[in-house]
Amino acid sequence: MKYWNSTLKKMDEYIPGEQPKDIAAYIKLNTNENPFPPSSLVFEKITSALNDNIRRYPDSLAMPVREIFAKQNNLTVDNIFIGNGSDEIFTLIFRGFIEKKGLAAFPYPSYSLYDTLAQGNGISFEKVPLDNNFRLDMNRFLEKKYDMVIIANPNNPTGTSVPVGEIKNFLSRYEGLLVVDEAYVDFYGETSLDLVKKHDNIIVTRSFSKSYSLAGMRIGMAIACPEIIRGFLKIKDSYNIDTLAIEAAAAALEDEKTFNYNIRMLISNKEYLEETLEAMGFEIVPSKANFLFLKHPGIPSGELYEKLKDHKILIRHFSGPVQSDYVRISVGTMMEIKQLFSALKSILPAE
Ligand code: PMP
Repeated sequence: MKYWNSTLKKMDEYIPGEQPKDIAAYIKLNTNENPFPPSSLVFEKITSALNDNIRRYPDSLAMPVREIFAKQNNLTVDNIFIGNGSDEIFTLIFRGFIEKKGLAAFPYPSYSLYDTLAQGNGISFEKVPLDNNFRLDMNRFLEKKYDMVIIANPNNPTGTSVPVGEIKNFLSRYEGLLVVDEAYVDFYGETSLDLVKKHDNIIVTRSFSKSYSLAGMRIGMAIACPEIIRGFLKIKDSYNIDTLAIEAAAAALEDEKTFNYNIRMLISNKEYLEETLEAMGFEIVPSKANFLFLKHPGIPSGELYEKLKDHKILIRHFSGPVQSDYVRISVGTMMEIKQLFSALKSILPAE
């Protein structure tokens, strides 16, 4: 640690969900990845881009992705920035869009990377607890002068969401910068995209890791007013998105049919998962995402996580107040869900 600066020494590191080496031996329901493969157009485009031109730098502005998304959402390319996963976008937000002496706020429980990145950039922050039903009251962010507020909508790990009307109402009274992380919005949620056209203090972020099945390609997006997008372009790494990722993201956006089909399958699997787990006695938080946050009165959540791991099924168990009482289970394929049920039958106490 001799060469670590004082910020690095003080910060907590982000703990990602396990990605085991022998991944094929596991049923992976721990990191909210899409259980279905991406569009075949993605494979075609990546394969044809793997040629001699790979020795050239990529398009530093990721224009094809911005153009398609702009067209599909009635925006302009000046409203869109492409990042190396939405995680990179949060890094850039903490680097460029809040002063060092500023104060940020996030809900708790939520995506803990916000805390890590704030700490890593020396930004102070406060956590505003969700209520007993894991609902977020946006008014809590008006109780103090926060320079930046980040919410995930739908929220991770709870799956709960804030109606866009409440976000709109909040923006009319808030002068700081609001970031709405829409990593899970495609599964059920209402989007805040339209608010970008009317307000210069909102950034909506999107991820290609969940609904587009491209977690391994690392592509995310920020949608905001042109001035904010100019700021992202100024502060980003020179070539932050590689050639293959640009091809993959553009192809995934283009193939709307596969996208819509996968979302429908996932939602139907989720409904089946939810109904069956409820019948097994689980208490489930109503979720608008591709995962469930739940607990069972017959077994502590930490023990459930360990026992499922013994059955080669990975789910997520977080440490920390309130959330450690629960586990988070991502929606898988029908076969994965059925294997989960059969493992649970042997783990849960007999009624
Ligand atoms: N936001 C939330 C709420 C998430 O749960 C995740 C995934 N862990 C991300 C963002 C990160 O997405 P990406 O893979 O695009 O960096």
